[in-house]
Amino acid sequence: MSKKIVILGGGISGYGSAILAKKEGFEVFLSDMGAIDPKYKARLDEWGVPYEEGGHTEERILQADEVIKSPGIPDKAPIVKALAKKGVPVISEIEFAGRYTAAKTICITGSNGKTTTTTLAYQILRDAGFNVGLGGNIGESFAYQVATESFDWYVLELSSFQLDGMRDFRADVAVLMNITPDHLDRYNHSMELYAASKMGITRNQGLDDSFIFCADDPVTQKMLTESEPRLHRRLPFTVKSRPVQGARLEDGVIRAKVGGKTLKIDTAKMHIRGIHNIYNAMAAGLAAMAAGVKPESISRTVESFEGVEHRLQRVGEIDGVEYVNDSKATNVDAVWYALESVTKPVVWIAGGTDKGNDYEPLYEFVPKIKALVCMGVNNEKLVKAFRGRVDEVHSTATLDDAMARARKLARPGDVVLLSPACASFDLFDNYEHRGRMFAQWVDKNKS
Ligand code: ADP
Repeated sequence: MSKKIVILGGGISGYGSAILAKKEGFEVFLSDMGAIDPKYKARLDEWGVPYEEGGHTEERILQADEVIKSPGIPDKAPIVKALAKKGVPVISEIEFAGRYTAAKTICITGSNGKTTTTTLAYQILRDAGFNVGLGGNIGESFAYQVATESFDWYVLELSSFQLDGMRDFRADVAVLMNITPDHLDRYNHSMELYAASKMGITRNQGLDDSFIFCADDPVTQKMLTESEPRLHRRLPFTVKSRPVQGARLEDGVIRAKVGGKTLKIDTAKMHIRGIHNIYNAMAAGLAAMAAGVKPESISRTVESFEGVEHRLQRVGEIDGVEYVNDSKATNVDAVWYALESVTKPVVWIAGGTDKGNDYEPLYEFVPKIKALVCMGVNNEKLVKAFRGRVDEVHSTATLDDAMARARKLARPGDVVLLSPACASFDLFDNYEHRGRMFAQWVDKNKS
């Protein structure tokens, strides 16, 4: 009798896992508490995968030999608790898919910078002629690609939720960008648990594998000193010190060394700006070196890389004022890097669903902030944090109002920066929707 696999969650990761499980000959059933997108249902039908939506049939799910849980479902969901009680193994899509491919992987995690670094690393490998796929939280799932493609390499963006469900999976190249507070609600509000989860990226790594990390990140450093010695090769990146192996910054030039190879990137030639993007370029460059890409090829791609939509993306100019869409900045740390990177007076648009933010780290940028336009259903906390510090603090409840206000406040040579520090769900479907609305407004009002 074939092994029974149940997939919880019918999103991108879920249907990908279902299709791979089907292809590998398992008896598969997919269950989603909510509605499944018709696009994904069509794929499941096409592959003959049975599914249910709008609820979980517990008896059927508990009969599984193994369950693949989508990253969006928390461990405290009753069905996950019931599975744990019965002792049914619950794994992540990445763990499952990793069993059915011999491809090598570059796996990227962290609190901020994952998508930018993953996209850049992927483009470097692709430009260098590697047969490479891009997946995880970006685009198609790893599982779906393992079922339908035959890549030699994958560059995967992994959230801590995906790392939590990994047992035997091993990344050939693991990248940890940073560890700053985010999603703490899923980790019992414990920074230790969240950090330990992120460190899971190095699980099972051996002597031939590389671990790339930010030596300037205090939490990562603390985790490294606390963890027992690992057998992998460690490649730090830093703008503050000069490691022998790894990447450093010297007079505006990124210098990286891996084994006997050296890489040089002139940051003045890069299109993506800000210290955080120097970190991202270092991490992607080191990952590509560890994968064996030639240094000349790496610097060419890094220098020409235009960045990713909704991340400090310049969307246009109105009356000599630059408009920058950083809608993906949904936590304070991301906004810190946005404010750090701007060199002009800022009219800053922020607000939305506050995730328990502490705005104090942003106070050092107050001299750059000409005005703050709060945009959200409940702006009280943000207004309180900045009133009396920033000259102009305005409260608005729609994008149109916020934009009109920002436009009035800005003078030629200023920048209007949408970098919300909050989730978008009060006024928008998601951060992409918020960013698109911002860009559309700019487009409509361009002279
Ligand atoms: P993630 O996928 O981890 O959310 P992104 O690359 O999508 O990361 O960037 C998210 C936000 O964080 C953007 O606002 C971006 O400007 C900012 N950011 C990008 N890279 C970094 C970094 N290395 N450190 C801190 N913030 C960053």
